[in-house]
Amino acid sequence: MNKINYQKEFEKIISSFTSKPNLLLHSCCAPCSSYVLEYLNNFFNITVFFYNPNINIETEYQKRKEEQKRFIKEFSNNEISFIEGDYNIQDFYSAIKGEELKGEGSIRCKKCYTFRLEKTAILAKKNKYDYFCTTLSISPLKDSQVINKIGLELENKYNIPWLKSDFKKKNGYKRSIELSCEYNLYRQNYCGCSFSKLEAENKNREN
Ligand code: SF4
Repeated sequence: MNKINYQKEFEKIISSFTSKPNLLLHSCCAPCSSYVLEYLNNFFNITVFFYNPNINIETEYQKRKEEQKRFIKEFSNNEISFIEGDYNIQDFYSAIKGEELKGEGSIRCKKCYTFRLEKTAILAKKNKYDYFCTTLSISPLKDSQVINKIGLELENKYNIPWLKSDFKKKNGYKRSIELSCEYNLYRQNYCGCSFSKLEAENKNREN
């Protein structure tokens, strides 16, 4: 099946704008959000939704959350809004039940994306945002085809427009590394859940 270029789809959407719509943007962490916010800030009024109960322990969760808030403050002088979701790790374990050991990029991650994006869609609908989206597609380890498919399914389910996108394009990942250095952002070496931490440690041992 042919892959869809979601950067091109994004460009089609923004080409019709005459003013800045309101966007609820799920963010997984400050480094991934850095380029995405730099880019999207040109086209949208943005609220960042930090909803990540997948993060393995609370100290790590708080660290990533505080970095997210610091980046928003330093980058936009708090012009970009911030909302924190609930941190209940049991919700994550319930969402991925039965798929725990499938590995990064598997059905486990698909369920994890759906779990976090569904909450984002519901909040976007409730608070009458024009679009909802996520930073997740910036990671080279995350398939933008899968993420956009989930977004579009949720668009249909909740009747709230999904912002088609692929933030890896236009050298987005490279730019996020530059911005992370510029703002001295904490860059974790695993995705977030306890399984991904173990997988990263095993990979390091093998190398
Ligand atoms: S590796 Fe990342 S995306 Fe996949 S389940 Fe764990 S936290 Fe979620």
